[in-house]
Amino acid sequence: MEFKSYSYGKQCIEQDDIDAVTAALQHEYLTQGPEISSFESDLSRRFGAKHVIVVNSGTAALHLACMALGIGPGDEVLVPTLSFAASANCALYCGASVTLMDVDPITGLLTPEIFQETVLRLSKQGRRPKALIAVDYAGQPCDWKNLRDFARAHGMYLIGDGCHALGAKLNGDELFSARFADVVCSSFHPVKHITTGEGGAAFTNDDTLAEKIRDLRTHGITRSQARMRENHGPWYYEMQSLGFNYRITDMQAALGRSQLRKLDRFLERRQRIATLYREILRAESHLTAPEERSDCFHAYHLFPVLLSTEVSISQKQKLFIEWKKAGLNLQVHYIPIHLQPYYRELYPEQGSLAGAESFYRREVSLPIHPGLNDADISEICDRLLKPLRKI
Ligand SMILES: *Cc1c(COP(=O)(O)O)cnc(C)c1O
Repeated sequence: MEFKSYSYGKQCIEQDDIDAVTAALQHEYLTQGPEISSFESDLSRRFGAKHVIVVNSGTAALHLACMALGIGPGDEVLVPTLSFAASANCALYCGASVTLMDVDPITGLLTPEIFQETVLRLSKQGRRPKALIAVDYAGQPCDWKNLRDFARAHGMYLIGDGCHALGAKLNGDELFSARFADVVCSSFHPVKHITTGEGGAAFTNDDTLAEKIRDLRTHGITRSQARMRENHGPWYYEMQSLGFNYRITDMQAALGRSQLRKLDRFLERRQRIATLYREILRAESHLTAPEERSDCFHAYHLFPVLLSTEVSISQKQKLFIEWKKAGLNLQVHYIPIHLQPYYRELYPEQGSLAGAESFYRREVSLPIHPGLNDADISEICDRLLKPLRKI
C-alpha cells in the first residue's frame, strides 16, 4: 500500500459535481443567475426553513445575521469561547462588544447553566446582552430548547452558528436550530459537510429578517416595487441600507446543489467513521472518545478526542510532531477565542475560562470525511496510538 497521509477534513468532489460546475459555466449568468435561487429552494426544502439566503461565506452569513437583528454599537453579544474566531468577530464587525463564555470541558458545548450564570452575573452589573450566538460544536446540537427559553425570558435574540451541524438532528428534528434561533448560519468551506469552495447560508423563518439579509447581501439594494420609495422607471433600484457584496456565484451554487444531493451519504459515512473510532478506541486508556447523546443525530463535522491526562503544551507539541511524521496532519479545535492576542488586547480584564482551556489542552481532532474507508480508520488509529503509548 502506498503511504497515505491524512488530514482532519477534506472535500469530496465527484464527476457529477464537476459536470454541474462545467454546465453552469456555459449558462448565461455566472452570478446573480437562476442557480442561486434554485440552491436556496433546495436548501429550504431539505431543511424546512422558510427562507434561505446563500452568501459567499459562513462568516458573511453570521455578519448579516447580526446586522439584520440590529446589533450595533453599545450592544453586548454572548459567544462561547470554544469556536472559530468568526463566531465572535461577526458581532465586532457591527460595533458591538463580545462577552466570551466558558463551555463544558467534556463536550465542548455551551450549556444552559453557563449561559444562565453569565446572564445573571451581567445583570447584577446592569448589563443586558442583546444576543446569544450558540455553536453546535463538532456537529452536536446544543440544548436549544433551554437556551431559547432563557434567551427569550431575558429579551435576547438567538443566532445559531450551525457551521458544524448541517444535517444534525435534535430529537429527530433536522430543523431544530431554525425553529429555536432567529437565524442559523452554515458554511460551505471545503472541510464542512458540503462545499461550494467558499460559501455559506442564513436560514430563518422570519420574513422581515430574511428581507434584510437579502438586501444586505447586495449592497443594501432592493428592486422590489412594493418597497421602493420612488420609481423612476424600469432601470430604477434603491439602496436603502449600507450592505456589502456578499454574493456567491452561479458556478458555486451549481456545485452546492450537486453536493446537497449527497448530504445523506456523506453524513452516513461520517457516522460510520465515528462508530469505528469509538469501537477501536474504547479500550484505549490514553484517549477518551465522546459518547453519543441519545437525543440527537450528531453530524460529525469533527471527531474530537480528549487525551486522558492533561499533557503539557510541550508534550502535545511532541505528539503532533510524531503524528506528522507518521502522515497524520491533525488539528486542535479550538484555540479558545479569549486566548487570541486580538481578543486579549481588546478585553484585558477577561479572566480564564477553565472548561474551554482544559478542553483546548486535551483535544485532538481525528480525520473524518467521506473520502476515508474502513481500512483508513484502522490505519489512522495505529499511527495515532504509537506515539501515545510512549508518553
Ligand atoms: C467554518 C466556520 C465558520 C466560518 O465559515 P466560513 O465559511 O469559513 O466563513 C464560522 N463558525 C464556525 C464554528 C465554523 O466552523
